[in-house]
Amino acid sequence: MSTKTAEFVVTEKDLLQGLDKATAEYKIAALTKKSGRVLYDTVKNSNEILLEYLPTVLPPKKFFFPQDEVILEYTSDGKINAKIEANPLVLFGIRPCDLNGFKILYETFADDHGDPNYLAKVEQTVVIGVDCENTCDEDAFCFKVGAQNATQGYDLMLYKFAPTSYAVEIANDKGRNFINKYLITSGARGDEVAIFQAKKDAGFKNKKPFKNLSKLPELFEQNKHHPIWEQEGDRCLSCGSCVMVCPTCYCFDVTDEWQLNLKKGERIRKWDACMLDHFAVIGSGENFRHSPTARLHHRISRKFNFLMKKHGQAVCVGCGRCVRACLADISPKVIAEAVGADQEQLETI
Ligand code: SF4
Ligand code: SF4
Repeated sequence: MSTKTAEFVVTEKDLLQGLDKATAEYKIAALTKKSGRVLYDTVKNSNEILLEYLPTVLPPKKFFFPQDEVILEYTSDGKINAKIEANPLVLFGIRPCDLNGFKILYETFADDHGDPNYLAKVEQTVVIGVDCENTCDEDAFCFKVGAQNATQGYDLMLYKFAPTSYAVEIANDKGRNFINKYLITSGARGDEVAIFQAKKDAGFKNKKPFKNLSKLPELFEQNKHHPIWEQEGDRCLSCGSCVMVCPTCYCFDVTDEWQLNLKKGERIRKWDACMLDHFAVIGSGENFRHSPTARLHHRISRKFNFLMKKHGQAVCVGCGRCVRACLADISPKVIAEAVGADQEQLETI
C-alpha cells in the first residue's frame, strides 16, 4: 500500500495549459506521435501530447544521455574547449519503469567525480512522472522486478485519481517552484493517492514480483553454466538492438573527428553496445567475449547480478523494450526464470 500523499490536485486542462505557459522558459518533451510512431520528443503545444501511455522504442534517457554528444572541441593550434549542452527542459509523462531507469543512471553518472554532461542536463530538467494503473502491454514485466513503482527520478509525480484530475506529489524544490510558477492547482483532500492506488492494486492484482527477487545476484552467480545461456546465446544475432533501447544501459565509445581542413576537431561520445561482436576487443586483437553466449551472459548478469548489488535493485526495470526489439525473441525475464527467479524452493540459497 502506498504511503505517498499529494499536496495538490490539478485538472487535466490546467495541467496542459501550465505546460503551454512553461514553453516561455522550457522546451517541453513528452509522449507524442510523429509520422505514425509513438515516441518521446519535444512538442510545441500540449495538444501534441499523448496522455495515455504506449510503449516507445527508445527510452527518455536520450534527453540526458544522447546517442551522439560532442563533449570536447579543439583546434590544431592547441585550444581545447569542454562542451556541455544543457538547456531548460520539462520531461512530461515519464512512467515508473523509466523513472527507475533515471534513478539508476543518475547513481551511475553521479558516481566518483560525476559526469558533467549528464548531471548538467538533469539539473536543467523538470521531470514530471505519471504513475501507471496497469502494465502497458504483455512484454512489460516491471512488476517482476518491483519497477512498477517509482520513489525517485522525478521532481513531480502525478496520480490520475479521477477521469480528468491528477493528484500531485512534490518531490523537491525544483518541482515546487515549477508548480508555483506554472500550474493552477487546488489543495488536496488527502485521499486522492489512495483512490489511485486502489485502482493500481486492482490492475496489478495478479502480477507478482519474482519470488526470489532479492536473491537474483546469488542465483545468477550459481548458474553461470546453466544451459539457458547456450540456448539463448545460440539464437542471438549480435545486433545490439536490446542495448540501444534499454533505459539502464549506458556504455559509450569516444571518437575524435577532425574537419577535412584539419583545423578543428570534436570529441564525440556515442552509445555502444556490449552485445556487439567488437565491444570487448582489445589492442592485440583478442576478444574477451567472442561468442554471443558470452556477451548475453555478461549483459544479463549486469542487470541481475553485478549492478544489482551496487544499486540495490534489479538493473533491468522490466520495460519490455528489448523484448519487443529482439528479432530472436530473447527476454531477460525468461532467462531469470530459467535460473530460478520464480522457483518456489531453492535448494542451495
Ligand atoms: S533489459 Fe530489456 S526489459 Fe530490462 S530495462 Fe533493459 S530494455 Fe527494459
Ligand atoms: S536484440 Fe536479441 S538478437 Fe539482438 S543482440 Fe540483443 S539479444 Fe541478441
